[in-house]
Amino acid sequence: MKAETDVCIIGAGPVGLFAVFELGLLDMKCHLIDILDRPGGQCAELYPEKPIYDIPALPVVSGQELTDRLMEQIAPFNPTFHFDQMAIRLEKLAESEALPHGGWRVTTDQDSVIDCKVVVIAAGGGSFTPKKPAIEGIEAYEGTSVFYSVRQMEKFRGKKLLIAGGGDSALDWTLNLQPLAASTGLIHHRDGFRAAPDSVNKMETLVKEGKVAKHIAKLKGLKGENGKLEAVIATSKETGDFEIPCDTLLPFYGLTMKLGPVGGFGYEVKDGLIPVDTEKFETSTPGIFAIGDINWYPGKLKLILSGFHEAALMSQQAFRICFPDRRLRFQYTTSSTDLHNKLGVAA
Ligand SMILES: Cc1cc2nc3c(=O)[nH]c(=O)nc-3n(C[C@H](O)[C@H](O)[C@H](O)COP(=O)(O)OP(=O)(O)OC[C@H]3O[C@@H](n4cnc5c(N)ncnc54)[C@H](O)[C@@H]3O)c2cc1C
Repeated sequence: MKAETDVCIIGAGPVGLFAVFELGLLDMKCHLIDILDRPGGQCAELYPEKPIYDIPALPVVSGQELTDRLMEQIAPFNPTFHFDQMAIRLEKLAESEALPHGGWRVTTDQDSVIDCKVVVIAAGGGSFTPKKPAIEGIEAYEGTSVFYSVRQMEKFRGKKLLIAGGGDSALDWTLNLQPLAASTGLIHHRDGFRAAPDSVNKMETLVKEGKVAKHIAKLKGLKGENGKLEAVIATSKETGDFEIPCDTLLPFYGLTMKLGPVGGFGYEVKDGLIPVDTEKFETSTPGIFAIGDINWYPGKLKLILSGFHEAALMSQQAFRICFPDRRLRFQYTTSSTDLHNKLGVAA
């Protein structure tokens, strides 16, 4: 998939989302890329139900509610999201008809290519990456028989699945994929699941009905050839080693945050953070900005409200790059008819 836009934002956490609003008020269109399958970054992934008390004018708001409200706030600007994709490459583009002042090409691991005038790195603590089971040689099966996320359920139709883990993801996918799969197993190291009680009850019902095979054991090894899985070798104190026949293993052991590709895009990176100035929040490469938890400047506080402020100032400079011939006017959302029209609230 190929697209052209004004601004490409890497990271759809709270700060990347709010940047869409500030950029939108100044007429800039945005595409956002996130390795997660939904918006919200840390708020949605790490603490969706926890209350946040320091968002201005919202005395208490949960991580998920903040995300939902940001999505509502940016809806008038109709951003394009590329979820389940990692931004892996950033290249400088020469001047062209579409980009008279040059620009950037961002490529993802799913081969989406986004050409833009400005890049905003809003990558927070880095990309969320799956924790992998400690099984020797598992890499040989990744992408063919071992998957850490479900991008398309259809891909697993008719498969002999083994799902590993005891949290919400493992249980949700057991329930969702069981009707499609030829067979479904669930393996967890103890007979206690951290997932929502309703999901656990539904899974236990499927086990009683013989539709899901539950294994209380640890993953130990993989059996197969040329990346094609034939069985998983499991082990427990009671049974010792045993084989579970399957052609697909889906381990859901949670996510960890890693700086990842945004650490190697050519601008200065110091101690895993991207130094920026505090006027424009631009990196050492003009035209590439960094806002939110990923950036560093003297006095930086890793707070959502700091990222919101950074998004507003970054947008001013992004406007100058996107529209070099236009004058930037300061306007209040309360009183500007122009802004009301953009927000779809004009009387
Ligand atoms: C438990 C907890 C409680 C917190 N409580 C508060 C609080 O009370 N108040 C407060 O202000 N802050 C709080 N924070 C901090 C707050 O969550 C962060 O400041 C905020 O999430 C930063 O937003 P962000 O958009 O910069 O980054 P993030 O929320 O980290 O989002 C960055 C996104 O970028 C994506 N990404 C990174 N690299 C790539 C790539 N190469 N390709 C694709 N996607 C990529 C990631 O997957 C992620 O979704 C808390 C944090 C935690 C963990």
